[in-house]
Amino acid sequence: MPRLFGTNGIRGVVNQDMNNELALGIGKAWGTYLKQRISRPNCVIGTDARLSNHMLKSALSAGLLSTGCDVVDVGLVPTPTLQYTVKEKQFDTGIIITASHNPPEFNGIKGTANDGIELSKDVEKAIEKIYFSQQYDLSNWKNVGNYLTWNGAINLYIKGILSRIDTECIKKQRFHVVLDCGNGAGSLAAPLLLKKLGCRVTKLNCELDGTFPGRPSEPIPENLRMLMKSVPESGASFGVGLDGDADRAIFVDENGTYIWGDKSLSLVGKYITREKKGGLAVTPVTTSTCFEDVIHQNAGNVVYTKVGSPIVARIMMEKKAVFGGEENGGLIFPEFQYCRDSAMSLVKILEILAKEKRSLSKLISEIPSYEIYKTKITCPNEKKERIMNLLEEQMKDNNNVTNVDRTDGVKLYMKDGWVLLRPSGTEPIFRVYVESKEKQRAEQLTIFYKNLIESLIQST
Ligand code: MG
Repeated sequence: MPRLFGTNGIRGVVNQDMNNELALGIGKAWGTYLKQRISRPNCVIGTDARLSNHMLKSALSAGLLSTGCDVVDVGLVPTPTLQYTVKEKQFDTGIIITASHNPPEFNGIKGTANDGIELSKDVEKAIEKIYFSQQYDLSNWKNVGNYLTWNGAINLYIKGILSRIDTECIKKQRFHVVLDCGNGAGSLAAPLLLKKLGCRVTKLNCELDGTFPGRPSEPIPENLRMLMKSVPESGASFGVGLDGDADRAIFVDENGTYIWGDKSLSLVGKYITREKKGGLAVTPVTTSTCFEDVIHQNAGNVVYTKVGSPIVARIMMEKKAVFGGEENGGLIFPEFQYCRDSAMSLVKILEILAKEKRSLSKLISEIPSYEIYKTKITCPNEKKERIMNLLEEQMKDNNNVTNVDRTDGVKLYMKDGWVLLRPSGTEPIFRVYVESKEKQRAEQLTIFYKNLIESLIQST
């Protein structure tokens, strides 16, 4: 059976692979799936700021309604706002129309379970199965779903965040923050939240615009140049850049220096495990060792997972973790909700700065630094499993390698670093990650393992 759902929902180019027919069919399949479990299911639906949102939301809603599923439309909202609404208002499911950080011609459909966490792979497969078989359970004319709108989701979300932090301590500091929402859905929540916390806000790209005129949506260094320039010029305490659906936040210190997601993740992890005197933190195998270093300093433990924020979130819930997240600016705060949340990340950084009374650059300088190299190697999909097994086999006799981990791909631990070979789920490539304290060693490891893997690919 072909797959529709990827790592983070279904994505595609509008009116090509992401079209009304698909959205309608997915709506009917989703409604059918819910009805097999609940007699009268309901769904909350929202969108990011893309131009095709209304089109896809209408088609998807029509499909859900035709099965007898009630639909509540919360309009344009950040993804974490939709997730919070599902949990707080006890909906059976939630759907957000978004393509996160992808270019404006893309859009997508992402779903959550009734706890607000992204759907599990099993549920996605069950919905796909109904979609491809077209075994839809349509209701009779009397029982088609009701459609309502509700505009209270953002207020509910902001209230929820403010109730979980030390607002008075933050207000006293009168922080100045440069906020770059990239014209995305974050524009609806972050400025309001900062205002409520007594911050002075310099806004960049905070007007909703589905063409993303200000900058591309992914908060990588080349897309945050304006933010990096603006922070020192305006004398702000720091800057923050969000992705298109506002689940990820990347920070810029008071000097305009871009802070890699590993470091902001570690700073918040350090603060939370210190407050809790330990606890468990969860992150994918791709995260820098700096995270583990700071968690261990506070007598906490780290559990490594496969890549993918829904996987991190589910494991956090199962293991009662105190914190978790990814190295791309996606931080998860279990006391609030089990999903990535940029607004919660932003207020947590404000709280840390307010309590520590030191600059962000100073706090980040206290996080250990590693050299990280990322590269990719072309490899036919059918060879991937064999290559990983061969690599694992060969490393048994390698004295340099202290441990081989197969959580996601093959991760080779050494005394002075690690190498991770990860197969891409969508492309015929391996992603190779290398980390070491020393730049020279990281380079050396990259060359050695790239050559080794390429020769294994050629000889099989
Ligand atoms: Mg996103």
